Amino acid sequence: STQAETFEFQVEARQLLQLMIHSIYSNKDVFLRELISNASDALDKLRLESLRGTELHADTSDLHIEIEADKEARTLTIRDNGIGMSHAEVIELIGTIAKSGTAQLLQELKEAKDAAASQDLIGQFGVGFYSAFMVADRVTLLTRHAAQHQGTRWESSGEGTYTIEAVEEAPQGTAVTLHLKPEDAEDRLFDYASEHKIKEIVKRYSDFITWPIRMATETARSAASADTDSAESEADGAAADEGEGATRPMETLNSMKALWARSRDEVTDDEYHEFYKHISHDWNDPLETIRMHAEGTFEYQSLLFLPSQAPPDLFLRERKRGVQLYVKRVFIMDDCEDLMPEYLRFVKGVVDAQDLSLNVSRETLQQDRQIQLMRRRLVKKVLSTVKDMMSEHPDRYATFWKEFGRAVKEGLLDDFENRDAILEISSFPSTHDAEESVTLRQYLDRMKDGQQHIYYMTGESRQTIESSPHMEAFRAKGFEVLLLTDPIDEMWVGSVPEFDGKQFQSIAKGQVDLDTEEEKKEVEAERERQQKEFAELLSWMTTTLSEKVKEVRLSSRLTTSPACIVGDTYDVTPNLENMFRAMGQ
Ligand code: ADP
Ligand code: MG
Repeated sequence: STQAETFEFQVEARQLLQLMIHSIYSNKDVFLRELISNASDALDKLRLESLRGTELHADTSDLHIEIEADKEARTLTIRDNGIGMSHAEVIELIGTIAKSGTAQLLQELKEAKDAAASQDLIGQFGVGFYSAFMVADRVTLLTRHAAQHQGTRWESSGEGTYTIEAVEEAPQGTAVTLHLKPEDAEDRLFDYASEHKIKEIVKRYSDFITWPIRMATETARSAASADTDSAESEADGAAADEGEGATRPMETLNSMKALWARSRDEVTDDEYHEFYKHISHDWNDPLETIRMHAEGTFEYQSLLFLPSQAPPDLFLRERKRGVQLYVKRVFIMDDCEDLMPEYLRFVKGVVDAQDLSLNVSRETLQQDRQIQLMRRRLVKKVLSTVKDMMSEHPDRYATFWKEFGRAVKEGLLDDFENRDAILEISSFPSTHDAEESVTLRQYLDRMKDGQQHIYYMTGESRQTIESSPHMEAFRAKGFEVLLLTDPIDEMWVGSVPEFDGKQFQSIAKGQVDLDTEEEKKEVEAERERQQKEFAELLSWMTTTLSEKVKEVRLSSRLTTSPACIVGDTYDVTPNLENMFRAMGQ
């Protein structure tokens, strides 16, 4: 075989590995979930390639995951016969972290005040393969890509460098061998070479994996020796391994049932949460689980999740959408953008359609009427779930809106069909409460007699808006004003005409009519009197300031400030002006 070459980890990868080696994450058990999750993905990919007719040097008749523990050597091996990796892929996928937001995460970790805060950040980020270094002081990976003959061996202690060498003979797929940390040997909590411990972790975190996870267990051995006609041993999940060696009796540790296909009361919240972690690569529980089952001419099942935290790439260009497409239980693609609109890109989950062809591609999906129908139903379901959350779990809703509100509001610009539903679930800072945001519904319920519009003002922050002179008359009248502080607010509020029959009215634009009929008559008389009195002064000021303003006029809006500048109804606001400038326009 060839000489092993030594490589350095990318800087960010090295820093993350240090955190793993020193186990800043307290629940070390999750390393196994991560490795099984990768193995499962690799099996999905191989099956898909073979369905598509790709030329492969691979046997797809018995795709599975195998766990092998050696108590004496203190090693644990997780093996799959999936797609594998080429030499270049090992360097690219294992030697670097491509995940966007890594640099930012590391910065935040540096600034994190305590262990709990660091845990939280790591959990939110999710660390996949590298989590192996929480329990191992050396990791060996042997892999062969299904389209190639030659294999690759990778090895590292996680301390800055790794070695790679080409291997002539390598079995199909990937085997990851962990040399377990000696310091954990005496601690039963971390005894990852023990059969009992492994079974417990698999059951807890990976039960729903649809590929068999096998292990040569005590149960399997005694079942095999107790009766030779294996009928009974099959019943408790043990079966003889028919692979090489052919003698080791194996037990399948997981139930392999696709969660979305099981009836709701058969599945626990914990199981849903673990499934969420598998597909999202998030280590935290989701905020909400959404199930849908459509029968009839076009049948599909879906299991969607709202995460509890926004991913670091939510507003980055290369962000992905989170819904996977399955056809009749077969994984077809990740981030299927035709199933979820851009503004709901943070929704994670699975949609399993019964009547699509296994050969669908991204291009054909775009034209597919069934897909479009599904998408409409899914969007409505997500929005209605959030609406229910508002009344049933206000605290959860508040979290949702804080994390994802900015993205959801993008939908006001292009999803005309669901505009009202989006407005219904939106909330905004307001003058009514110094901390809590208010919904439009609450705003309408509180409107004063004679109030015609939903008043708002846009600006950079609550503070700048609240100290604006435009605010004075509204404060004096006791009218509530929405404080729209997100840049996206500028974009939609100009194009969304109304909510439930009430128009949105900026308090910083044009003439704002605050008074009742009687008040108006009095004010009119007073204004005429003042108009005469100040006519000369106003025309002098208009001429003097003609380069800066269109007109100087008397105003009834101000109560304490002597003067303010207002835009015409159709002028861009100062905030939008800044945005355009930033965009180079
Ligand atoms: P993630 O799963 O979030 O992409 P990981 O750190 O878990 O991140 O894995 C990095 C990448 O390495 C995977 O995306 C995959 O391409 C590759 N990989 C890891 N394990 C395997 C495996 N068992 N078989 C094939 N590829 C793998
Ligand atoms: Mg992974």
